[in-house]
Amino acid sequence: MANLEEFREETRDWIEINCPVGARGPGPVPWGSTKVKLNDASREWLERMANRGWTVPSWPTEYGGAGLSAEQYKILIDELKRVNARPPLTGRGVNYIGPTLLELGSDDQKARWLPGIARGQGGWAMGYSEPGAGSDLASLSMRATRRGDHYILNGRKIWTSDAMQADYIFVLARTAPDQPKHRGISLILVDMQQAGVQVRPIRLISGASPFNETLFEDAIADASDVVGGVDNGWTVGKRLLQFERSTHAGINTSGSQGGRSDASTMPKQIHRYTRIVEGRIADPAIRARLIRYEQNDLAQRLTQQRVIEETRAHAPGFASSAVKLTGALNNQDGDELLLHASGTQGLEWDTSETSEITRAWLRQKALTIAGGTKEIQLNIIAKRVLGLPD
Ligand SMILES: Cc1cc2nc3c(=O)[nH]c(=O)nc-3n(C[C@H](O)[C@H](O)[C@H](O)COP(=O)(O)OP(=O)(O)OC[C@H]3O[C@@H](n4cnc5c(N)ncnc54)[C@H](O)[C@@H]3O)c2cc1C
Repeated sequence: MANLEEFREETRDWIEINCPVGARGPGPVPWGSTKVKLNDASREWLERMANRGWTVPSWPTEYGGAGLSAEQYKILIDELKRVNARPPLTGRGVNYIGPTLLELGSDDQKARWLPGIARGQGGWAMGYSEPGAGSDLASLSMRATRRGDHYILNGRKIWTSDAMQADYIFVLARTAPDQPKHRGISLILVDMQQAGVQVRPIRLISGASPFNETLFEDAIADASDVVGGVDNGWTVGKRLLQFERSTHAGINTSGSQGGRSDASTMPKQIHRYTRIVEGRIADPAIRARLIRYEQNDLAQRLTQQRVIEETRAHAPGFASSAVKLTGALNNQDGDELLLHASGTQGLEWDTSETSEITRAWLRQKALTIAGGTKEIQLNIIAKRVLGLPD
């Protein structure tokens, strides 16, 4: 116990001295992309935290982590939150493919990939979905054909978030097309800086293009970059999805546990937009919804915390689906409530402050689609958590 207290003090002092003022409070968190320029504060914070192994605090030191115990990890997060320090690094590198390699990669893969991921040297995209394979992911048809020491990749991925700025992509591809659909798939690491990989932005109605179509035409991957065994990609890919869902649920190894940060500001926001009588929200229906939202949010945070402690800072298994889903539903509920409370102002679609409420409400709709839809999570919870029959 005394050691933990010492650790807390040392951590507090170190963060106080080393976290630049510009890396505190809300702001963009780097995800490793070499195409996104970092400001000085973010770069310094990333370098200092990486040098200490605290971009991936629970990873072993040989792979760029600090080997922290679950108790130390919790203290580190508490102390970062105390000064509002932003996570130094996030993204699919530290949150999805890194933990997957740590668990299922070969020693050689761990040594080659993990230290760079821990230092944010390259951003990752995720190549799972295809035009004919979303919820039914095992229907994917992208092919990877062995030629000597390489695989030649051909196919088309869709909804690849951030692919236009990513340096690498992990893909699920068919290495044995004659096998039944859940077999003969492999998870392969691919360098995106090559002529065989083309990224086409998908323009959304808002004008933004966070998604892409990613085309592979005779793209090349090293045969040593198949993770978890050739033709074993269904198992490896599903485990990676658990890491993804854990991240969506606010549980990850990059030191950014927490999820939505504005729970305590929700009453204030509601007060700004709705009629207040004698210091109280006048509309009883809005009052009741706010109470429900706050109760659910607190329950979500406590569950999140319990799951983190139970899994000793690593991603939970099927429970990740439950925490992801309840978190997403509560976030959507909060946005719905804000929109409702803002009345006709919530219909604005310009640059006014309230238009951000409308935009957030729309954006949050994606929470129950990305990383597996609500219905798919419910199916997993029914089968794998509750043990109900198929
Ligand atoms: C914000 C966001 C980011 C994303 N980023 C990525 C990314 O980086 N990389 C990537 O590979 N993909 C990404 N995706 C794609 C995402 O994984 C898919 O959209 C998702 O898996 C659903 O697939 P689909 O869109 O093909 O819908 P479909 O699978 O066609 O589903 C349509 C509807 O049918 C329902 N349905 C389907 N099957 C069942 C079933 N068995 N039981 C009950 N209901 C069912 C679904 O719940 C849904 O409501 C992203 C999606 C979003 C929204």
